[in-house]
Amino acid sequence: MTPTLSDRIVAGDPRAIARGISLIEDEAPEGAALVRRIFASTGRAYLIGVTGPPGAGKSTLVDRLTAELRTDGRTVGIVAVDPTSPYSGGAILGDRVRMQSHAADPGVFIRSMATRGHLGGLARATSEAALVLDAAGKDVVLIETVGVGQDEVDIVRTADVSIVTVVPGTGDDVQAIKAGIMEIADIFVVNKADREGADRMAAAIEAMLALQHWEPGEWKPPVLQTEATAGKGIRALLEAIEAFRRHQASSGEVRQRDRAEFRLRELLAHRFVQHVEQRVLEPGELGHVLDEIAERVVDPYTAADEILRRTLGAANAGRQPEGPRARLDHVGIAVADPAQALAFYRDALGLDVHASEDVGSQRVRAHFLSAGSAALELLEATAEDSAIAKFVARRGPGLHHITFEVDDIVAALARLKARQVKLIDESPRPGAEACLVAFVHPSSAHGVLVELKQRPASA
Ligand code: ZN
Repeated sequence: MTPTLSDRIVAGDPRAIARGISLIEDEAPEGAALVRRIFASTGRAYLIGVTGPPGAGKSTLVDRLTAELRTDGRTVGIVAVDPTSPYSGGAILGDRVRMQSHAADPGVFIRSMATRGHLGGLARATSEAALVLDAAGKDVVLIETVGVGQDEVDIVRTADVSIVTVVPGTGDDVQAIKAGIMEIADIFVVNKADREGADRMAAAIEAMLALQHWEPGEWKPPVLQTEATAGKGIRALLEAIEAFRRHQASSGEVRQRDRAEFRLRELLAHRFVQHVEQRVLEPGELGHVLDEIAERVVDPYTAADEILRRTLGAANAGRQPEGPRARLDHVGIAVADPAQALAFYRDALGLDVHASEDVGSQRVRAHFLSAGSAALELLEATAEDSAIAKFVARRGPGLHHITFEVDDIVAALARLKARQVKLIDESPRPGAEACLVAFVHPSSAHGVLVELKQRPASA
């Protein structure tokens, strides 16, 4: 048997990894299916997010960090993201440089991500590309972004450690860097530290950090200086990452849950909008609503509420209303002479016998005959003391019980009990074929013994 794509990814096959990430990038249904299959094999890689303004030398930093990790014998996956310039510029160029230095190394896999699809989709695609590399057994996954927008913050925020890289000379002080990105930093790196103003920049970040209140034992981001092109300060950066990792382990802080929350919320929002566009709105209707909002005919809140109302209305209309909704499963008939009973029901009426079984505990043999969506159960006693033998002796052959299938037998019993229905079984008990069953007393069911039955979840 040829191994599946997920098998090959888990085995670390680079071509399979590349193919898997492409499926995710294309938002192909196979991408979602792939994530489902590999997810159980993920959660082992350590995710390092590196962000900062363009020109901060992140690509070189990531490259040097990779070399250092390889020296330690760790395998590395790199996902480079450039949301601002999809098919040209930084990421691709940086990629080419890196390709050269790690091309021959099977312990390194490099991939750049292009922007496509909807807002926020890149963050999900990046997160899922990291999953693929994680499943492929990479010890460390480096996620590098090029800009400093919200997308980049989203991308890096869910890494295990977030490194914010700045560079002297890009602005007079840290005010030049957006507040949002400063807040996600676990480690600051002033790269190109040989440049004029590097110390000043580091001091400015330290001063900014000093303004904040730090609880005892809380991680205060260190401010490191590196010269990535010369390989200076890289070992210290790696040590800071390790220190942060130890701090996380000792403080019980895990980003896995944050990551899970981000993924789920993003996916829910995406799926919901997709559902609205494909199932709720008429073709072209979204454009019409947008025009109306643009022309101030309607406000966005009202438009959103209206779409939500229709979406939920449509969802409810397709569902069965809450309630007992019992379905007739079979009718049980006690017979004195099975051969004659079969001559009538099977041969004369033309019902097929689809099963015959002995129920030892009841000392009874049951023949099931298909009758449309329900069935007929002919019950023959196999011993004198069987309940069926007694039933036939007392009342003659005839209708013994009716069985209804319900989705939730506990809820059904509770409903019946609330209506003062007399139950033989207050709670369900195991029946044939792993079903749960319970009997209702004939005095409450107009002279008929009623059985409720819930099939096992998998059936
Ligand atoms: Zn039955």
